[in-house]
Amino acid sequence: MSDSSPLSVVVVGAGPSGFFAADALLKAHENVRVLLMDRLPTPYGLVRYGVAPDHPKIKSVTAAFERTCQDPRVTFVGNVDVGRDISVDELRQHADAVLLTVGASSDRSLGIAGEELKGSMSATEFVAWYNGHPDYADLTPDLSVEHAAVVGMGNVAVDVARILAKSVDELRTTDIADHALEVLAESQVREITMLGRRGPAQAKWTTKELRELGELAHADIDVLPEELALEPGTEVDVNASPAAQKNYELLQAFAAQPSSGKARVLRIRFRVSPLELTGDGRVESMLVGRNRLLVEDGRTQAHDSGERFEWPAGLVLRSVGYRGVPLEGVPFHERRGVIPNESGRVLSDDGKQEAGLYVAGWIKRGPSGVIGTNKADALETVRAMLEDVSAAGKDVAGVVHLLNDRGVQYVDFDEWLTLDAAEQAAGEAEGRPRVKVTSRDAMLTTAKGRS
Ligand code: NAP
Repeated sequence: MSDSSPLSVVVVGAGPSGFFAADALLKAHENVRVLLMDRLPTPYGLVRYGVAPDHPKIKSVTAAFERTCQDPRVTFVGNVDVGRDISVDELRQHADAVLLTVGASSDRSLGIAGEELKGSMSATEFVAWYNGHPDYADLTPDLSVEHAAVVGMGNVAVDVARILAKSVDELRTTDIADHALEVLAESQVREITMLGRRGPAQAKWTTKELRELGELAHADIDVLPEELALEPGTEVDVNASPAAQKNYELLQAFAAQPSSGKARVLRIRFRVSPLELTGDGRVESMLVGRNRLLVEDGRTQAHDSGERFEWPAGLVLRSVGYRGVPLEGVPFHERRGVIPNESGRVLSDDGKQEAGLYVAGWIKRGPSGVIGTNKADALETVRAMLEDVSAAGKDVAGVVHLLNDRGVQYVDFDEWLTLDAAEQAAGEAEGRPRVKVTSRDAMLTTAKGRS
């Protein structure tokens, strides 16, 4: 092998972590080849399918990702399912390192009776549906109900509550999927209730996102002043950071805000846990338990107080966290839903390092942090990788040859740009950033210029 052999790296998952890792590799190593793969025909992962349609600024990070993909050392192949079309072992044979940035594509459940009833679903599915993810285009949630409940108090819960609370006219100028606009236009939802198992000081939302809930044009915010009282010992959670203090002040301001008779109301309720969902064929009601909070080992924990009440709910969105799914041939930590690793180096079941196998992003550390959090995370992994591996004459082009031999209909970056341009052109006509193509077949047809 000559000294001029490039370092060959396959990155599986073209979301923010995959792009940050690819970028870090390009910056750290002149002589590198990166093959960036995705299961979907489109790049950008949760930037396209997770970020709320009414938060377009967050999506502007894709301009930098696009530049990364236009570097001649990078090859993008979309619509390739690692596990089905090609195995991780095969990738390892053709690359000096394989970096898994596959995120957390599933969700956590509540584990309560009735969770499987029609009308009960995860917020992650609901988000994927309104963002036009091809695997969720047929979800079609029934919004002909008056009461919606959102369980959890993170930013995803805030996103889905806000989308339910906005008028369809506020969403028409976004890149929300057309099928979602149609359903939201007929929405009968009048009350949206967010339920947090802990208190106002322990909620996970960020200030900017919380503030928006108090500024909704068509929904009043309803926070009960008595629910803002803090249990002894839990004041530390408010004082833990300026952000926590700001959030608490915002909630106090919401509690003082009188109702102005808007069409919808968004209620935020603390120290409550759904215990059972009931209904005749579909969810109609929620049995809710009231919690009391106790500080144990320095953490404020929710405990069932024994008090019960019923809450009407024709739509229940559980928003209690994403969850990673296992990849064939790769170790997996079942309880945490991550791939076991040390600084991004994948560890086998006996704790030894899996040669040439790395992780970054949510599948490495769990589903936490904002998009930018993944930059430092990816950098840590790339540093570890570059300490460990050197070019060994392998060539990621071999992966593309294998895909060709197998007749896999992959989408390259130019084809993505064709699809991207078509979506944007369709959007321009409607005063929107884009009109998303939401079926795989239509994506492939447009990307490959067959239409
Ligand atoms: P998250 O921030 O971890 O919030 C999960 C919520 O679910 C918490 O309130 C948690 O309460 C609650 N929960 C967990 N298990 C529960 C149970 N069994 N019963 C009741 N409640 C339960 O997760 P996320 O909202 O899915 O967001 C994931 C990440 O993406 C976060 O880092 C978030 O900031 C980020 N994100 C950012 C944006 C943005 O920047 N605009 C938008 C969307 C998502 P406990 O605290 O009691 O566990």
